[in-house]
Amino acid sequence: MWKKYLLFVLIILICGCQQKPLIKNVKGKVSVNYPVTNINALDDAISSYINNIYKEFKNNDSENSTLDISYTYKDINDDIINISLSSEIKVGKTIHKIKTFTYNKKTDMFLTMEDIVRDVDVLDYDVKRLLLQKYRDVDIEYLSNVSLEYFKIDDENLTIYFNPTKIESNSDVIYLDIPLNSLQLLIDLDKERDDTYISIKKKDISINDKVVALTFDDGPSKYTNKILDVLKKYKAYATFFVVGNKAYFQGDVLRKMLSEGNEIGNHSYDHKRLNNLSESEFKDEINKTQEIIKDLTGFTPTLFRPTYGGYTKKLMSYTDLTFVLWDVDSRDWAVKSKEKILENVLPYVKSGSIVLMHDNHKYALDSIEDIIKELKGKGYKFVTVSELLKLKSMGENE
Ligand SMILES: [Zn+2]
Repeated sequence: MWKKYLLFVLIILICGCQQKPLIKNVKGKVSVNYPVTNINALDDAISSYINNIYKEFKNNDSENSTLDISYTYKDINDDIINISLSSEIKVGKTIHKIKTFTYNKKTDMFLTMEDIVRDVDVLDYDVKRLLLQKYRDVDIEYLSNVSLEYFKIDDENLTIYFNPTKIESNSDVIYLDIPLNSLQLLIDLDKERDDTYISIKKKDISINDKVVALTFDDGPSKYTNKILDVLKKYKAYATFFVVGNKAYFQGDVLRKMLSEGNEIGNHSYDHKRLNNLSESEFKDEINKTQEIIKDLTGFTPTLFRPTYGGYTKKLMSYTDLTFVLWDVDSRDWAVKSKEKILENVLPYVKSGSIVLMHDNHKYALDSIEDIIKELKGKGYKFVTVSELLKLKSMGENE
């Protein structure tokens, strides 16, 4: 639902009306890191878990409280992803929590221990015995209720985690490592796999940060690589809305975008005006570009920027992609001057802004370093559009 809401917010921005702060202030320090997989069911599950933790934290928030969420990401084989989210919540005392997700991309299913290990009953018995050995003060009642819900698999061990909720004396996550060679697994472990799947890089973004999303349309072009180098130099990230007919022979540039922490969005195949296209012509414009990006990188975009900013409700109903506009327009293609671009951008950026630039124009390259330096100096962090949307949805969910 918030995708629709976001478009509404952007429309308000374009009309120049006021909006409430996107990310409300919390007293304590919050740092949330999570992976973006572009698998809807998985990303939704991660978001909703993080939102719940955050809500709980907000309710007990005080001057010295902190929330820290970090994650691990692992491709178990070509189909199965394993993600764990660890939370450290300091509100007076410190509580640790863990949540894991194991997901089969091929079958679109969340997996449980029953899908991973044969004879889970035997494992369950062993786990209780080993927990008693490892944690001598573990509560018997707690032990009778433990489930094998949360786990991680690496090349050597199946690690099973238990949240501390039932153990008063212990606020740490407790865990057991079970050597894989002692188990009968129901899945293949692909230890030698080369990681073709590129997940978006872990960044240190906190919900209280001032954030801005730089976006570049109409590329890739001969300037794109240099823009990427500037972004990298300043540890800044952007979203590139690429045109399919330019992207299809520039796999290296696309992979560089992703591996350096940027995001790729869809900006149609031919850059036609969209409003007069039939449903099938419009879908063709989107799907061809989706496929090119996916083939070249393994990444499936979730964002669409309509050409010339033109769209209708009807067009939106033809695709699941989120339409992304902008609230700050550099007009780099028109003004052809670094100074004018800076004048068009810098005074108008506020936290949550989406800035429109074009990486097929030399002046975008000429001005990007100054834009980043100036905004960094004002305390801004640079996020991708998907990260910005997640931060906004967390702000809305309070
Ligand atoms: Zn364009």
